[in-house]
Amino acid sequence: MTDTAPRPFIQVAKPLIGREEREAVMAVMESGQLAQGPKTAEFEAAFAAYIGVKHAIGVNSGTAALIVALQAHGVGPGDEVITTPFSFIATATSIIACGATPVFADVDPFDLNLDPACVEAAITERTKAVMPVHLFGHPARIAEIAELCADNGLALVEDAAQAHGAEHGGRRVGAFGTGCFSMYPTKNMTTGEGGMITTDDDEVARMCRIIRNHGQEERYVHEHFGLNWRMQDLNAAIGVVQMGHIEAWNETRIANAEALSRLIRTVETPRVRAGDRHVFHQYTIRVPSGRAALQEALKEAGVGTAIHYPIPIHRQPIMRKMGFDSASCPNAEAAAELVLSLPVHPSLGPEDIEFIAAAVNRLA
Ligand SMILES: *Cc1c(COP(=O)(O)O)cnc(C)c1O
Repeated sequence: MTDTAPRPFIQVAKPLIGREEREAVMAVMESGQLAQGPKTAEFEAAFAAYIGVKHAIGVNSGTAALIVALQAHGVGPGDEVITTPFSFIATATSIIACGATPVFADVDPFDLNLDPACVEAAITERTKAVMPVHLFGHPARIAEIAELCADNGLALVEDAAQAHGAEHGGRRVGAFGTGCFSMYPTKNMTTGEGGMITTDDDEVARMCRIIRNHGQEERYVHEHFGLNWRMQDLNAAIGVVQMGHIEAWNETRIANAEALSRLIRTVETPRVRAGDRHVFHQYTIRVPSGRAALQEALKEAGVGTAIHYPIPIHRQPIMRKMGFDSASCPNAEAAAELVLSLPVHPSLGPEDIEFIAAAVNRLA
């Protein structure tokens, strides 16, 4: 590229699908086994080994993973599930889909993840589970939350949709409780649509497999309530190939993030808690004023950005309509005004990173 050639626009997210993935999908098409079958089992075994748990259960989205995991823990009408309001809407709607009530606890300003003290304060006799999110790929204070759950007899369902390979104390997230991962195209790895549940608990795993398949263990005998949450082998074939790349991609994300943080001088860059592995699903800066103008200027300069998330869940119109808007979460509300995600995905090279950082330093 010469100096005068226009630079291609840098997208904020970009799925990586190569020849191997295309060939794997073609092989499934030729096999005739399109729905859940041997490729799903192969993907589940590889993913369980990656997270370091006994069981992984493939489903057809991250949202499905959350619903099935909650139901496998017996969450239903009358139960409360404590969660964070600073997340994607599916974190809360999955709880509502089970007939339960989401109870929003505030986040820790350090990592914008659930504050264990706020979780503890929100526990009532109706609390059945806690659902932390490992937002942007940074682990929540998951060991402390796991201890709280154990002390109070609560289920722990981790929304790890953005955190494939993130670690706390050397242990992968999704291994502390029942882990729920998304394989949506913008995530750290993809199957198209898809999701995965991880657990060490044999009974939870058994219930997940039953619930994802119409509540049946024996064919046409429906002991439990379930729906069709199954993963397709067409998607699982992509997942098997992506397992071979996820660690290299995570390492590239981390290196890109480190380079951005070294180069950016004009705004606050993401914080990483000592001892944690942040896998940078998003690289999110904090912009105390002029965020909309900065976003517009970066777009004109050729850098895509996104706001994750502009409205905390407890302030969303649907939560008002359904009466789930009573929580006071000032840290989440403040964060929603500050955050701006920059491109960090593994397709970016060093010159892209320098270009992004220079644009931020010039415009912020
Ligand atoms: C993406 C995402 C989900 C939902 O996953 P889908 O695969 O899109 O259904 C849930 N929670 C969080 C935090 C997410 O980022």
